[in-house]
Amino acid sequence: MDLKSYVRDIRDFPKPGIVFKDITPLLADPKALKACFGKLYAEVKDLEVDKVIGVESRGFLFAPMLAGTLNAGFVPVRKPGKLPFDTFEESYALEYGTDRLQMHTDAIKKGDRVVIHDDVLATGGTAKAVCDLVTKAGGIIVQCNFVMELEFLKGSDKLEFPVKSVLKY
Ligand code: IMP
Repeated sequence: MDLKSYVRDIRDFPKPGIVFKDITPLLADPKALKACFGKLYAEVKDLEVDKVIGVESRGFLFAPMLAGTLNAGFVPVRKPGKLPFDTFEESYALEYGTDRLQMHTDAIKKGDRVVIHDDVLATGGTAKAVCDLVTKAGGIIVQCNFVMELEFLKGSDKLEFPVKSVLKY
């Protein structure tokens, strides 16, 4: 199944000059949704995993399903001010300025084996910040897992852990 045919390019979203890869057609098609999940799951099924992290907000689409199928727990990493309990925080650089991500301090136990999941790996700044959060909490990152990777942006160069993506551009 050609999953790339279910991803559409949206020009000038969310800002002029950006071509946004939109996976909502893939999510809306039952066969494509199932095939995409199957490919994501195939990358992690043989790993011992305690926690799957989903990165707000499109990382929340597949991460809980991956966690449930793996018999692992799901952990949300969110934008500042969204999580109710004590948090660890990491800042990361954007094209203009910085942004921050937070994770509950009790979400990952020391020695937990962790998969980090998000929809898109672009420059890698987001995923690197999540890796730093997990490391701060004492977790062991076993894979960074994405629906798609924009290889020309070389985001995987920022990550010191195995990177897997279903679709590559
Ligand atoms: P990075 O930090 O530059 O790697 O950007 C990755 C983050 O931005 C992820 O959380 C993605 O959800 C989001 N992102 C970047 N580019 C796209 C895109 O083309 N489509 C959907 N999300 C994107």
